[in-house]
Amino acid sequence: MKKIVFDHVTKYFGTAKAVNDAHFTIQEGEFFTLLGPSGCGKTTLLRTIAGFYRQEEGSIYFGDQLMNDVPTHKRNIGMVFQNYAIFPHMTVFDNVAYGLKARDVGKKEIETRVLEALEMVQLSHLRDRIPSDMSGGQQQRIALARAIVIRPGLLLMDEPLSNLDAKLRIKMRSDIRKLQKELNITTIYVTHDQEEALAVSDRIAVLNEGRIQQIATPQNIYAYPENKFVANFIGTSNFLEGSCGNYDSVTQEADISLLGRSFKLRLNKPYAGGVKFAIRPERIKLQPDSAGSDRSNFRGEIATVTYLGEKVSYIVKLADGSEIDVQQHAIEPHQLLSEKQPVLIDLQLAKAAMFDNEGG
Ligand code: ATP
Repeated sequence: MKKIVFDHVTKYFGTAKAVNDAHFTIQEGEFFTLLGPSGCGKTTLLRTIAGFYRQEEGSIYFGDQLMNDVPTHKRNIGMVFQNYAIFPHMTVFDNVAYGLKARDVGKKEIETRVLEALEMVQLSHLRDRIPSDMSGGQQQRIALARAIVIRPGLLLMDEPLSNLDAKLRIKMRSDIRKLQKELNITTIYVTHDQEEALAVSDRIAVLNEGRIQQIATPQNIYAYPENKFVANFIGTSNFLEGSCGNYDSVTQEADISLLGRSFKLRLNKPYAGGVKFAIRPERIKLQPDSAGSDRSNFRGEIATVTYLGEKVSYIVKLADGSEIDVQQHAIEPHQLLSEKQPVLIDLQLAKAAMFDNEGG
């Protein structure tokens, strides 16, 4: 399969745009995830790729081939759904063989390819079993084998792990990722689970209300969210309101006013007006506010302490009465701060994302 190109694709339901002007390219061999809250348009976008829906505007290409009017069965795609969609009373072998029989593949080749696919999903020993008395994880492996046995150019997965328990989800997601790499198959994966998306993807597209908010690698989505929605949806962020002015194009610095303090900060583009800082809880550093400590820091007071073993979670009350979340990892017991303790807060603003009033 060549790259997948979305050229200003819009899909309506009535007058509502379930997918609004999707314009991006998925590279050959990429594990690409559509991530967003319920109703954001992930499934609709996936279904337009599969050909179950026809977009009203724009075009979809597989490589240079225009796919707009190519029916699903001619798109050479394998699909895996949340509810497995396998035949419960057919053996594992027959379930996986089904697509090959429909394509008139010879009996001998069917045997070889089904066994190869079952091997890949570690189910060869269960080939003669009936899925209805198998576990959810095993049923999803059958669905995966059935999708890859036809050697599709593109693998589409819609919330494939949602029906599995938490531990099995983690095992299955790494198995899926390993298999995808082995087969080097372009994969488009739909999930609302940000941790799953971060764990498996080469790149993630974050969607909200039908619109793509950002496309980036997991690391960049987390470290450099492009707008307030992404900063809020991926991981957790503290949002602090301030203002910004007097941008100096030579030094690229602007004057920032935040929580009653003024200071200069380097910006990557000019801006003046209200701002919101998004600051990750694990970035913030705290230390006891004792006599002789640095007065140039922000100050606050510990409101609550939650000890969680590998990390400690604090809620810290700031001078203006607002509260922020702070997480510290690998802390020694004697470093634990206590409730009502005054603290100095290093917000690490140079590493924070800063958004304008509209959240952009
Ligand atoms: P979920 O995670 O809940 O499945 P999603 O991100 O996959 O959500 P979609 O199912 O693509 O979202 O739905 C996007 C929008 O389109 C929603 O507002 C939904 O109500 C609407 N929608 C989806 N399918 C249809 C349909 N067949 N007819 C009318 N509206 C639809």
